[in-house]
Amino acid sequence: MTTLTKEQMYDDIRRWKKEKNAVILAHYYQVGDIQDIADYVGDSLALAQKASQTDADIIVFCGVHFMAETAKLLSPQKKVLLPVMEAGCFMANMMDEAAIKKYREENPDTVILMYVNSTANCKQYADVCVTSSNALKIIDYYAKQGKKMLYGPDKNLGNYAMHKSNIKMDLWHGFCGIHNGLKPSDVEVAKKKYPNALFVAHPECNLDVLALADYVGSTKQLIEYVTASDAKEFIIGTEVGVIHEMEKRNPGKKFYILSDRLKCFEMKLTRLEDLYNCLKDETNEIEISKEVSEKAVKCVNKMLEFSK
Ligand code: SF4
Repeated sequence: MTTLTKEQMYDDIRRWKKEKNAVILAHYYQVGDIQDIADYVGDSLALAQKASQTDADIIVFCGVHFMAETAKLLSPQKKVLLPVMEAGCFMANMMDEAAIKKYREENPDTVILMYVNSTANCKQYADVCVTSSNALKIIDYYAKQGKKMLYGPDKNLGNYAMHKSNIKMDLWHGFCGIHNGLKPSDVEVAKKKYPNALFVAHPECNLDVLALADYVGSTKQLIEYVTASDAKEFIIGTEVGVIHEMEKRNPGKKFYILSDRLKCFEMKLTRLEDLYNCLKDETNEIEISKEVSEKAVKCVNKMLEFSK
């Protein structure tokens, strides 16, 4: 437990960043105090791109384990630190390495599209990685080649992509415990309470919830949509942390979280104090074996090629 104030911690963090040539990457679902001191705040795709481009020696990744792993895959020579090692992802843990390995062996000609929310061990068996920002584009590319596809682990984003594109794929039965729990009745209650608000949602929600949305998009796309919109009020159907950036960019607009349940416990495990101690002591380094890394990085690089 530190007795330092937030500003004192910020001062030390800024100093260590320079001394150690470190960069802090933070996901939009992190608490506001961490977003405010980070060098880059973004969604999974933007942070993966930053990780691949940085010339820092140390990357401190404020997010969950698979995100730091992705940064390590892209920068194997750098020290990648995760302030709280236990910060995992419910969805990523729903794909078991043995099961996807078996699928790969039994379906050698199927293109495996792997949501970035997956472990490096599972990414080894994928052909290409996707995020909610680029999934439709990548699925369309393989569909035009007449390929059979498996999409996983998120069945909801997979269902949404199939619904939008009319393309058939096999789906893994994974989901995000936060988004998947939303019901159409949550939306109906919120719309009655805030009749002038537009409802925006992340495609990790179920299709029956997405059907009620005025706009569906990735975290970054939702932020851009509410910023560009003439509307003044929005009901937010994704993790509550995103409202921090929405409010920063849109001081005159109001944002209402769809449900109090939209808080990712894993993302919120990381406190400013954890970031502070992690950078100070350079602890919690991500390690991936060379064998896994060399295979898993291929699908991430493939995704980045699609995103140029
Ligand atoms: S919000 Fe869902 S998908 Fe995102 S890190 Fe948390 S559990 Fe994983």
